[in-house]
Amino acid sequence: MAERLIINGERVDASDGGTFDVFDPSSGEQLATVAKATREDVSRAVAAAHGAMASKAWGGIAPAERGRIMNRIAHTLRDRAEELATLESRDNGKPLRQARTDVQVAARYFEFFAGIADKIMGNTIPLGPGFLDFTVREPIGVSAQIVPWNYPIQIGARGVAPALAAGCAVVLKPSSEAPMTALRLGEIGLECGLPPGALNVVPGTGAEAGVALASHPDINQLTFTGSVDVGIGVAKLAAENVVPVVMELGGKSPNVVFADADLELAVQGVSTAIFQNAGQTCSAGSRLLVERKAHDAFVAKLADRARSMRIGPGVSDPDLGPIISRKQLETVERYVAIGTKEGAAIAAGGARPTDASLGRGYYFQPTLLDRVTPDMRVAQEEIFGPVLAMIVFDELDEAADIANRSQYGLVAGIWTRDINKAMSLASRLK
Ligand code: NAD
Repeated sequence: MAERLIINGERVDASDGGTFDVFDPSSGEQLATVAKATREDVSRAVAAAHGAMASKAWGGIAPAERGRIMNRIAHTLRDRAEELATLESRDNGKPLRQARTDVQVAARYFEFFAGIADKIMGNTIPLGPGFLDFTVREPIGVSAQIVPWNYPIQIGARGVAPALAAGCAVVLKPSSEAPMTALRLGEIGLECGLPPGALNVVPGTGAEAGVALASHPDINQLTFTGSVDVGIGVAKLAAENVVPVVMELGGKSPNVVFADADLELAVQGVSTAIFQNAGQTCSAGSRLLVERKAHDAFVAKLADRARSMRIGPGVSDPDLGPIISRKQLETVERYVAIGTKEGAAIAAGGARPTDASLGRGYYFQPTLLDRVTPDMRVAQEEIFGPVLAMIVFDELDEAADIANRSQYGLVAGIWTRDINKAMSLASRLK
């Protein structure tokens, strides 16, 4: 039976009975069938959320009570951590220990924002004699949350928890690539005391459910996490209704390694930054800037580490799991081909693994592209796979210039034993 939508506290089929299949990327096998939300379903979810805002069960309860319900959700996420992490790992492909961390982080978001629910205060503004001026902070209304497939439960919780804490009701649209834990989050919310309509979950495609939600005239706020191009389209749709948006988009984050760094530590940090979640992380350290003097030694160590990584299904808790889909795997392959055509040299990986037991999954070897120059496409565009673009530099000024030569700007890492160097470069990174 298909996993159903969650609208107004009930599990329901899509209005037209439509469904889509979800696949386990480690084997290509079907994991589940899920109801595919239509435009009408999204409208029903938005209406249900408004109903919750208007009701005494959510809109009218004491902030501390909201916090208590959210704390119960945090506890339940922790109690069911193993089950949720296993589901996330099968749905998304990530190694089990990373999925476990995601569930703990999701619980922590609920716990953190539960504590804020009764501390959202206004100001008293001193306008002078004869005036008493103060602000009251009210929930903005219905919060639409559109999330990607790479950290479903973690990013879902990151958006849902603050909205609920503020007294808003939520319509959550997970990605059709990995919708399972968002549905579990919706169920857990209901079990823990969220009233009908406070948290609705409408899995579906971006083209239908995503567009329907982003363009809905009755949402009051929208948080989108995903790629830049889609984000631009979503922001435009929301702008048609003057709905404020929060955009969490992509990255091409640099790790800068100086020759005086503890190279063993830097190898660990740099490889985790790019290979965690098979490189499918917004803040992945997908560019390495390495000081020329350290290049050969550092790349040799990094290549050893990359070659020694255990690749396998997420639930076997390998070092590297599969890519989310065949389409994304092909994108990664295309970028490696683009890189080599542009003049990059493969220092490790560069292809699908040869192990026959992995043949049906969407795996790609941890890959190091050497001799990359800052303007190559592989140094500029988000590949979203386990591929590190490595660039050499000679001077700190040059490192700052290369690091900043990107349309993105999420995070950066600096590896040196010299605190002055670290602070000087950090202050110049945009
Ligand atoms: P995506 O942009 O393809 O999809 C994100 C979400 O938008 C999905 O739920 C999708 O169904 C929906 N969507 C797709 N088209 C839509 C449309 N036209 N209108 C409305 N919704 C639509 O992104 P993805 O491939 O799922 O995720 C990877 C991207 O997300 C990467 O670029 C990554 O860097 C970014 N990301 C950013 C952060 C952050 O916090 N900055 C975190 C994780 C991922």
